Amino acid sequence: MAELPLPPGSTLGIVGGGQLGRMLALAAARLGFDVAVLERDADSPAGRVAAHCIVGAYTDKAALEKLAGLASVVTYEFENVPAEAVLTLQGLGVETAPGPEALAVAQDRVAEKQFLNASGAPTVAFASADTADEAMGAAAVMGAPLLMKTRREGYDGKGQRWVEHAADAAAAFEALGGVPVILEAPAEFVRELSIIAARGRDGATAIYPLSENHHEGGILRRSLAPARVSQKLADQAERIAVRILEGLNYVGVVGIELFELRDGRLLVNEIAPRVHNTGHWTQDGCEVDQFEQHIRAVAGWPLGPTKPVAQVEMLNLLGDEADAWAKLAHEPETRVHLYGKREAKPGRKMGHVNKLKPL
Ligand code: AMP
Repeated sequence: MAELPLPPGSTLGIVGGGQLGRMLALAAARLGFDVAVLERDADSPAGRVAAHCIVGAYTDKAALEKLAGLASVVTYEFENVPAEAVLTLQGLGVETAPGPEALAVAQDRVAEKQFLNASGAPTVAFASADTADEAMGAAAVMGAPLLMKTRREGYDGKGQRWVEHAADAAAAFEALGGVPVILEAPAEFVRELSIIAARGRDGATAIYPLSENHHEGGILRRSLAPARVSQKLADQAERIAVRILEGLNYVGVVGIELFELRDGRLLVNEIAPRVHNTGHWTQDGCEVDQFEQHIRAVAGWPLGPTKPVAQVEMLNLLGDEADAWAKLAHEPETRVHLYGKREAKPGRKMGHVNKLKPL
């Protein structure tokens, strides 16, 4: 088993080679670790900044063995890592974090909401349906409008449809591919907020200030942080975060998406058991950012301070927006983060900027 805290000079594994993996790898390198990335694509954003890149599917036994041969601690950049990959790594004596419970909960929207409600973290009312008939039945009981989402594998607004009339539930079920779904009551939110939180191997927690988030077409465009909120709301969010971290016996950084209702209550939309796009502001806005925090946690190091040092507007650079890098680089208040992706496609996250103002 791994020697913890993991000493500098050790190799830390990351499953997934996208931009989150890249920024995790850069943070790990800053703490003196070598990084081994496992990724299907031989030319990935994370693979290009890592000491080792193992090319293979996440369930490829030989690739997982190679990863386990290099790294004593392995983490992930995304939540849809197959459970069998985690079990294989654990069977090879590797420390994995976050744990399989957190992945199982985050991979299934129904399990996630059940966990949240049982932990005292409120959500919208919901029902699950495995067939078109069940979807019709649930919609008739709940009433429309409803948001129908696939239970598994939706992201950036994909795999979900509004059902305006209960009678349309069967058609929506088929349009989503006839796979198991969750039906959610609409959240009548005044703002979308998120909280990034971390828990160390010793059970210590560290919570970042809230971020206010704006989406377009299901994709995050802009975050403002620290969000302007009352102390009461901040305390409510922190309580929710701690319940989630402790309920999952979590190790690492988690992103928790919240709806702020008119009456001041917060509902949890979803949890991402990883670093999160709405936490990118912490790179230039906090003493220790979410990427270093995640590495510290999984490596068994003490968590770092989360105190804000600037007011940040984080803007995602989608598609050809990243072509404006030269102009952005001229702005003294703007910090440019680019992911090194070879090809810009519409809506593809190519980078982000953090625009800073004094607190
Ligand atoms: P999700 O994929 O669950 O993060 O949802 C993507 C976006 O859809 C959220 O950021 C919200 O803007 C919106 N959304 C998700 N669930 C609901 C809901 N129950 N009611 C209203 N809006 C929602």
